[in-house]
Amino acid sequence: MSAVEVNGVTKRYGETAALDGVTLDFADGSFCSLLGPSGSGKTTLLRAIAGFIEPDSGEITIGGVSVENIPVRRRGIGMVFQNYALFPHMTVFDNVAFGLAVRGTPAGEIAGRVRDMLALVRLAGFEERKPRQLSGGQQQRVALARALVTKPKVLLLDEPLGALDRRLREEMQIELRQIQRSVGITTIFVTHDQEEALTLSDRIAIIDQGRVVQVGAPNDVYERPETAFAARFLGDANFMEGVAGGDGMVATTAFGPVRTADPLPNAGAPVMLAVRPEKMRLVKSTEGAESGGDNRIEGTVRQTVFSGNSVTYIVAVGDEVVRVFAQNRGDEVFDVGDAVVILWSARHSVTVKP
Ligand code: ADP
Repeated sequence: MSAVEVNGVTKRYGETAALDGVTLDFADGSFCSLLGPSGSGKTTLLRAIAGFIEPDSGEITIGGVSVENIPVRRRGIGMVFQNYALFPHMTVFDNVAFGLAVRGTPAGEIAGRVRDMLALVRLAGFEERKPRQLSGGQQQRVALARALVTKPKVLLLDEPLGALDRRLREEMQIELRQIQRSVGITTIFVTHDQEEALTLSDRIAIIDQGRVVQVGAPNDVYERPETAFAARFLGDANFMEGVAGGDGMVATTAFGPVRTADPLPNAGAPVMLAVRPEKMRLVKSTEGAESGGDNRIEGTVRQTVFSGNSVTYIVAVGDEVVRVFAQNRGDEVFDVGDAVVILWSARHSVTVKP
């Protein structure tokens, strides 16, 4: 069952369509990321679900009920933002207790529920601290406890880890996912960070200019991007434009003939293929003939980009360049100027819409 449904929602600000006919559903208990560049409409969608923004048209339901005219506090949602928004003058306990206190929950019950929540986010013993006496990660865990203590149906997270440094952010990603699973709460997570979306999500919705361009499990969206935008935004890709050949499997491109496992349109029709750099392999051109692979193009290493555990080779192929990613196993090393052959399998040449 869907915990949240968004149906044809549009929101305009003057000439800008912040949301342009968005339709999405969020399965009960799932963790779904809204992923897109800055200004694509992610926050607007989250705020429309929360009730801070009234859509111009379309419908949103939470738990099967339309939330039109239902105010924020009665939608059964919990929210966490990037900038914590804890009450600075209140203790951790009072911050977490706040939502229960305003609902008139009895004090004895508040104490128990706050204690349980602080244990869940591993902050037992921090009850009397003020937010400024906590690290950034701890403040975000208080914000999470505060959002969950009222037992909302849906958790809305707007770049909650955005202000944390990389290491802490990765730790918090794991922790956030554990907490989300143990509570079983439907979660909608806004991020512009593709790795974060891939790591955390059951499903990813890629948003561009107020539209959903693709939705799917991280693996599906990564391996089968439908558009060049999705391929580029979720990872890196080499694009090869050309025309379909006569046999429906080979495209003629500036890189030479390229095989794909996808059915191609009629001969002569334009096609665009995307190949992830890690799906390609380099061999010295003298070995190229024996090493197989459905696709085989010759080039010259123009640049090597070393990043510790991996190397990206920038390979010149005629006037074009191809990026090939290689794990740093310490065996195959190529230098600038080496004549190489790039090999990859046909099923990794994915047809995308330009
Ligand atoms: P994201 O969260 O993906 O960065 P937003 O949802 O914040 O994007 O914004 C989507 C678009 O709507 C942007 O072009 C932004 O400038 C515009 N926008 C958002 N809120 C307002 C507003 N209150 N007034 C005018 N334009 C807005």
